[in-house]
Amino acid sequence: MPSRSDLGPKPRLGYTDSRIERAAELRPDAAAIAALSRDPNAAAYVIGGDWIVMKKGSPLHEPLFTLAEAQALSGPTETIFLGLLNGAPRFGHGLSPQTAEALKSRDTLHVTDLRSIAVQGLVASEHLPPIAEAKAVLHWHARHRFCPNCGIATRLVQGGGRRDCPQCKAEHFPRTDPVVIMLVSDGERCLLGRSPRFVPTMWSCLAGFIEPGESIEDAVHRETREEAGITCGRVVYFASQPWPFPASLMIGCHAEALTHEIVVDREELEDARWFSKDEVEVMLMRKHPQGLTTPPPVAIAHHIIRAWVENEIRFD
Ligand SMILES: [Zn+2]
Repeated sequence: MPSRSDLGPKPRLGYTDSRIERAAELRPDAAAIAALSRDPNAAAYVIGGDWIVMKKGSPLHEPLFTLAEAQALSGPTETIFLGLLNGAPRFGHGLSPQTAEALKSRDTLHVTDLRSIAVQGLVASEHLPPIAEAKAVLHWHARHRFCPNCGIATRLVQGGGRRDCPQCKAEHFPRTDPVVIMLVSDGERCLLGRSPRFVPTMWSCLAGFIEPGESIEDAVHRETREEAGITCGRVVYFASQPWPFPASLMIGCHAEALTHEIVVDREELEDARWFSKDEVEVMLMRKHPQGLTTPPPVAIAHHIIRAWVENEIRFD
């Protein structure tokens, strides 16, 4: 096996390894949840749409507020129970995006989006998984105020683990949308693409939502064929990552290319091409002569690509 440059210790995958015990058995007990909200050690993450509200600090900001502090930042809103951290209750407190954005003017607060927080390391890393969870669940609540079955206003129950319809009695659960994200390779080369949304120098794995009726492997085959015209053979699972933009689960895979001629779907991608291991290695190290890069370590794409460069992937 050819030796490659030392890429250093493997970075942590963002939004994973939450230290919070979800304590889902407490959710049906409204009195217990209410008691936990009065616990002196209770604290909440404050989120309005894409905006995360933090107490300004140095070098890190503090994303936890007492529940009284959280309530004082807004009018009555919905609060969800995230679980217990060493017995201390943790909640997510939802604001309207407009209310959160208005808080940017306060000197004592820092309000920004979760991508910036994760990539720039603005809070202690242990906060990223619960912020991601709270953001995804609060987004779901904000978009499911009314029953999709009968149209009546629904209400939050089970500490935010469900919404119930008082008329037709339907129960609605927060959803997670599965996405396949895959590195297609043929041995010494891999296929990377560019979305028009990317910064101009970044290239990444292809990705797409799994459609109803598809297996993970089906979705990898279809997305690769649709976006780049490449037919894939074997698919191996690598790892997964919650991706709260707004509420996806990224399912990371490696796929074996059976064809080589790329036909780019310009509706989906700005470009796609083959990259050698040597070129991808200098992109990972941020030493590419044209400044090309892979996504940052917070994203699973970085880890999928790095595993291929480090010769860790086998299709047999
Ligand atoms: Zn209903």
